[in-house]
Amino acid sequence: SIVVQNLVKRYGVLTVVHGISFQVARGEFVSLLGPSGCGKTTTLRCIAGLEDANGGIIRIGDEVVSAPEQGVLIPPHERNIGMVFQSYAIWPHMSVAQNVGFPLTIRKVPAADVAKQVDEALEVVGMRHLKDRQPSQLSGGQQQRVALARAIVGQPKVLLFDEPLSNLDAKLREGTRSEIRRLQRELGVAAVYVTHDQEEALSMSDRVIVMEAGRIMQVGEPKDLYRRPVNRFVADFVGRAS
Ligand code: ATP
Repeated sequence: SIVVQNLVKRYGVLTVVHGISFQVARGEFVSLLGPSGCGKTTTLRCIAGLEDANGGIIRIGDEVVSAPEQGVLIPPHERNIGMVFQSYAIWPHMSVAQNVGFPLTIRKVPAADVAKQVDEALEVVGMRHLKDRQPSQLSGGQQQRVALARAIVGQPKVLLFDEPLSNLDAKLREGTRSEIRRLQRELGVAAVYVTHDQEEALSMSDRVIVMEAGRIMQVGEPKDLYRRPVNRFVADFVGRAS
């Protein structure tokens, strides 16, 4: 599970996350939805440890990973998370297998264990037969599968997604949505999914957190946001045709 309590993030004098709180249970898939610049990515990066929060507490499973007021900031590779980015962020100079194994290699996992876990992760996304390819020899959808495999290698406790489908064409996006949900259900982990696409958030999520200007406007199941928006902003944003 993930627990975020009063998370604050500032860039210089600018506060971009204003003390937000939410929880994601084990096995639950929750989207952060809102317009560009509302602080979705910043929130996700604070959970991942790629940005240092300025205030509040973040808990992953039983562990406090961020509590700056108490001097706690666990580095990203010790947080037990898997993350998928918009740009895939796979390395062109490494093979598929090396890319997928990288999070284990930097944790100094023995090579034989890395190879085994890489095979398992690639099997899950149906890419094992391509493990010796270079990323340049893969389609966009295949590259995104490599990124997914890298996120799930080493049994992370949580999965974090930052607009992972925005570089895929419409047809591939549909299929990858259900692929992501299937993986997340199989692993039974908590997932946070950042998107500005309301249709995507509503169709994929157990619950949706609607953000605006660094604050949470509403949290609810997709049907509740749609039927009972708490204010004009949520009604307009959630109801807007994409
Ligand atoms: P998008 O969908 O466009 O990615 P977002 O909701 O994810 O938007 P964030 O990327 O979290 O929004 O950005 C929130 C605010 O913080 C924005 O006003 C942005 O300009 C600002 N911001 C983000 N990163 C930095 C940074 N490294 N330095 C200064 N300001 C930043």
